[in-house]
Amino acid sequence: MRRFIFITGPSGSGKSAVGKILAQKLGYEFLDTDEIIKQISGKEIKDIFLQDGEDYFRFLEAKVIRDVVQKEEGNFVVSLGGGAVINPQNLHAIRNNGIVINLLGKPEKLFERIKGSREERPLLKGDSPEERLKQLILQREKWYKINDFYIDTTEKTPDEVAEEILNFLKLTLLVDFVRVNLADRSYDIVVGYKIFDNLDVLDYLSAKLKRIFPQARKTAILSFHSIKDVMYSDEERVGEVILDFLSKLGLETFELNLPEGENTKDVFYAIYSWNYFSDLDIKKSDFLTLLGGGVIGDLGGFIAACWLRGIGYINIPTTLLSQVDSAIGGKTGVNTLKAKNMIGVIYQPSIVISDIKFVETLPDLEFLSGMGEVIKYALSLSYELYEFLLKNKESILKREPGHLKNVVSLSSSLKAKIVSEDEKEETGLRMILNAGHTIGHAIESSLGFSIPHGLAVALGLIAESKISSAISGNSKVYDAAKQIFYEFFSGVDWSKFKKNIDRQKFFSSMKLDKKTRGSKLKFPVIVDVGKTEIYDIEIDEFQKLSEYALEDIEKL
Ligand code: NAD
Repeated sequence: MRRFIFITGPSGSGKSAVGKILAQKLGYEFLDTDEIIKQISGKEIKDIFLQDGEDYFRFLEAKVIRDVVQKEEGNFVVSLGGGAVINPQNLHAIRNNGIVINLLGKPEKLFERIKGSREERPLLKGDSPEERLKQLILQREKWYKINDFYIDTTEKTPDEVAEEILNFLKLTLLVDFVRVNLADRSYDIVVGYKIFDNLDVLDYLSAKLKRIFPQARKTAILSFHSIKDVMYSDEERVGEVILDFLSKLGLETFELNLPEGENTKDVFYAIYSWNYFSDLDIKKSDFLTLLGGGVIGDLGGFIAACWLRGIGYINIPTTLLSQVDSAIGGKTGVNTLKAKNMIGVIYQPSIVISDIKFVETLPDLEFLSGMGEVIKYALSLSYELYEFLLKNKESILKREPGHLKNVVSLSSSLKAKIVSEDEKEETGLRMILNAGHTIGHAIESSLGFSIPHGLAVALGLIAESKISSAISGNSKVYDAAKQIFYEFFSGVDWSKFKKNIDRQKFFSSMKLDKKTRGSKLKFPVIVDVGKTEIYDIEIDEFQKLSEYALEDIEKL
């Protein structure tokens, strides 16, 4: 169980009453940020507003939240002021450190609850406090919606609400919640095993989708036949399970089956889909459901971004690669004849549902392709993950669900953190995720995309680790890359890929790399295992370095 449970919501939603009961039931300490502010300032909240102004109050509130999340010991239920979540820093702090529960209710009921209280609420002062409360709820609604769990308290007692929260907390033992924090475009990645078989998890997801898309009437499911036909359980196929889940939400469902393969990431299929949506009258309030690997995710996200200038979409990634990487971060797009992902936009999903069950049925090479991206995170960002992978190699390769869930959650967290900090590759941080990809993409292109993406990345990582070691002088990186490569990929018949690398295509693809700026390439140098820095390298120089690294790959 997480150490911090935060309770947010407007005045009258019962944050303190519920928080106290919950803390008692869990054996956690109860904290109320308004009470802490009163203690440190020596003033009532109304006096801070009156004498120092709302900005000063918000400053104190942010400081208190920062201090609370830095507590190293103990478990806490924390009740927050109603306006705390509209400050993105507060929101990030609480979502990164704990579970956030939002209480809401009909404004009339909330007002009725606070009417009799002696406490003065500065933001509700004036002639019509009830109207003011309604306005505040409306203004803050989109922030409240971002939270993990949402309870309508209108007809419930504090004990009943606390009970509901306890049931939700039990759910967090079954599934992991990883957050991408992007203010009001934040979303959850829900990671679990047999998610679509678990009624409690399904109830939670249904409520969440209804909240995200309150007016949706229709959803179009974009997928491949080959994915939908895979058995999910002894009786049901993947396609049936997803259709059943969406239909039970009361949605009219439409299935759009696209041809399998990388070539489907083509603007032709986007146009085909948009025409189909016109026929179906898919509206802005509806949403798309993407069921598949990176091809469906990249293409479907792009289709969603452009339809009616942006319609919501949910991503249900079915390959390991898409669960750990492509479904997260909103990079969507299609290929051109010459290079991959040349056309596209960054457009985030509303939720990602990663069910480890799907990974069980992946062909071996596709599974290992996903491991290519996992190993990228380990080498470039996390020594902890690197060690975890080596230690649990046997069970990961056997696809033991517990370890796989950890692999997907850890990898998702690493990617989510970077995307949250540098969504649009403005600070350079997100470029770290391109480790292995400069050469990986060139290999893919030189092989006419006949190699699974993550396997090309795995080869790219070997080559780029060699280049990294040459640049930084730290030979440990190349050794570590080779070690993990042999541990995980020794079963792959590399000869069929390596012998066909067309050097001319390889170098011309490299020049088209999206990380080139003028005559320079922004290259992620892995300076130590788990640590990467971006270097500017002359393209000609990089070409020489990759020539020497490529020879190495061919000898593998
Ligand atoms: P994919 O989508 O083509 O799927 C691979 C194969 O696995 C397909 O044949 C598919 O039918 C099959 N499959 C899918 N789910 C299955 C299941 N549960 N059981 C059995 N078979 C299943 O490939 P991918 O590796 O998931 O994705 C590769 C794509 O992702 C590339 O186009 C790459 O450029 C892109 N990508 C994008 C990002 C990003 O940030 N957007 C990151 C990495 C890769």
